[in-house]
Amino acid sequence: MSSYDLIVIGAGPGGYVCAIRAAQLGLKVACVEGRETLGGTCLNVGCIPSKALLHASHMYHEAAHNFTRMGLMGDRPSIDWTVMQGYKAETVETNTKGIEFLFKKNKIDWIKGWAEITAPGKVKVGDDTHEAKNIVIATGSEPAPLKGVEVDNASGVIVDSTGALTLPGVPESMVVIGAGVIGLELGSVYARLGTKVTVIEYLDAITPGMDAEVQKQFQKILKKQGMEFVMGAAVQSATAKRGKATLSYKLRKDDSEKEMSADVVLLATGRRPYVEGLGLDKLGVEMTERGQVKIDDHWQTNVKGIYAIGDAVPGLMLAHKAEDEGMAAAEVIAGKSGHVNYNVIPGVIYTSPEVANVGLTEAAAKETGRKIKTAKFPFMGNARAKAMFQGDGFVKMVVDADTDRVLGCHIIGPNAGEMIHEVCVAMEFGASAEDIALTCHAHPTTSEAVREAALACGDGAIHV
Ligand code: FAD
Repeated sequence: MSSYDLIVIGAGPGGYVCAIRAAQLGLKVACVEGRETLGGTCLNVGCIPSKALLHASHMYHEAAHNFTRMGLMGDRPSIDWTVMQGYKAETVETNTKGIEFLFKKNKIDWIKGWAEITAPGKVKVGDDTHEAKNIVIATGSEPAPLKGVEVDNASGVIVDSTGALTLPGVPESMVVIGAGVIGLELGSVYARLGTKVTVIEYLDAITPGMDAEVQKQFQKILKKQGMEFVMGAAVQSATAKRGKATLSYKLRKDDSEKEMSADVVLLATGRRPYVEGLGLDKLGVEMTERGQVKIDDHWQTNVKGIYAIGDAVPGLMLAHKAEDEGMAAAEVIAGKSGHVNYNVIPGVIYTSPEVANVGLTEAAAKETGRKIKTAKFPFMGNARAKAMFQGDGFVKMVVDADTDRVLGCHIIGPNAGEMIHEVCVAMEFGASAEDIALTCHAHPTTSEAVREAALACGDGAIHV
């Protein structure tokens, strides 16, 4: 039996970051991981493999559609799916091995196996029980099931996001259930590689929670790229037979029942916290109605010395939110004051164009009762975006009309996922739109569009 200052359960972005920060602060740390490799959902079956496939399919799409427009002539590349899968696996491996290196560098013990908390301060893995002054639950999440839809990733017909990353080949047709971030990203990968992709969504708008104008423009662009949408439809069932899937759904507007078949059905209706086998019931750890671990302002559960972070607790299910909580919880445990500003957590969809947001949507800002002002700048007025054939989107600022303080920003356009951070920093410093407008931005960059949107909050943008 070994004893530690801290045992972190789960080595995803929440857990491994928490372990590293705690070790940096001088604590003796171990991290338990049941998976063969470190990095959690994010590195193994989430952010990283999906971004590798998004990158490869984006390159293919550019070569097929835009190369000749730029005078780059020659044979159109063909897809070698095995090589593409190999590239994805290599990308994952270099990253998971990177965490192994960081664990060694920071003298963190990696305990391999599935953990159970048998009592406060006691973590059982296999036959061994380890002692810890503090425990952090960072066990993440898993795909949420949907009644009537039987996922079988091994068959490659009805799959969840994990199965969609390792399909045996590029299918001719795919139905994506759910127009959220994961469904649209993975749907985009296959659409760009030539699959006929239909997205079925229960609600009337895609990407729930995003700014309404962005939702509309995003759907329009995806349609232009060939994706089809069935909105307001409740999926009843999906069944696989002889390598094909049949799906039935009901349209909410008139209750009419429809059927559709495809080579692959991707279930992407969200994720739910994963706390299986941890023994939280027996410990009396309080949970929310949605199965998340309840925590206080310092990420501590109702059981002293047991903390929880990341996808397993309430809030956005995002890797960087988990990382921030990991760092903050480690700092609290080490006797310092951890901090996460939940009002300034960016969200990004890595499609082409990218979609990014931070802070309040226009609708949410109005709901606060304050007087607000919005301004938009189209990428059509941005030289760099036009050179990349990406003039379709815009930057939208939401600001307080009385103080000019930036409340939110919504971008659909090239590099949106990088550009959003300028606004995150501005919001962290309590900046006004004028502060951004008065900041010199290099030309020609797509970031100029952020400045132009900020200028549009005042006397007006220049390039419209
Ligand atoms: P996880 O990453 O889920 O890690 C938890 C780990 O705990 C797992 O490795 C699990 O094996 C381990 N574990 C669980 N129980 C035990 C136990 N009892 N004992 C030992 N180990 C245990 N987020 C983004 O911010 N950007 C993106 O681009 C993005 N893309 C995504 C794409 C896909 C396809 C998916 C599925 C998710 C994506 N996400 C993205 C979400 C992101 O992956 C999660 O928000 C993030 O991984 C959560 O981190 P976590 O540390 O809380 O948990």
